[in-house]
Amino acid sequence: MKTGSFIHNPKMRSFLLKFFGQKNFFWKLITPLLKLQKNMKTDCIFCKIVRGEMSSKKVYENEKVIAFHDINPQAPVHILVVPKKHIEKITDLEDSEEDKEILYDIIKTCKIIANQMKIAERGFRIVVNTNPEGGQTVYHLHFHIIGGRQMRWPPG
Ligand code: AMP
Ligand code: ZN
Repeated sequence: MKTGSFIHNPKMRSFLLKFFGQKNFFWKLITPLLKLQKNMKTDCIFCKIVRGEMSSKKVYENEKVIAFHDINPQAPVHILVVPKKHIEKITDLEDSEEDKEILYDIIKTCKIIANQMKIAERGFRIVVNTNPEGGQTVYHLHFHIIGGRQMRWPPG
């Protein structure tokens, strides 16, 4: 379709007039872009894995989360469950429907992974390191699922 006929199409003209005639059309245009930017960080390694810009040994993925093998495993099974939304740490989770759904999805995924990796019956550990004294090194929320050997207590 030529640009001229696109603009002169009556339906398209009325849509464009309505859309750009609104007082807040500018915000309607940029809000999705701002949301995208808020949910993703360009320099975050887990955001890069989510976007497929960095490779990972993926074991599970759905709309909200991704799970992959830890690059430096601390046990025979060591999987990271990561929300696709960039949330720095567990204490940054908000009381919103979106974050509640993400948290529920993470827990559901932990159960799926434990069954998939055949450690559900034997036992396993879920760890969420938080901030420097908690030993967090990657500031994009992730749940470690560790299993396949006897866990010790207290943890180091
Ligand atoms: P934490 O220290 O709790 O923040 O955990 C970060 C985890 O991410 C560590 O266990 C790292 O081995 C792991 N890790 C770092 N970079 C990668 C990567 N590119 N792929 C998979 N796991 C990674
Ligand atoms: Zn991130």
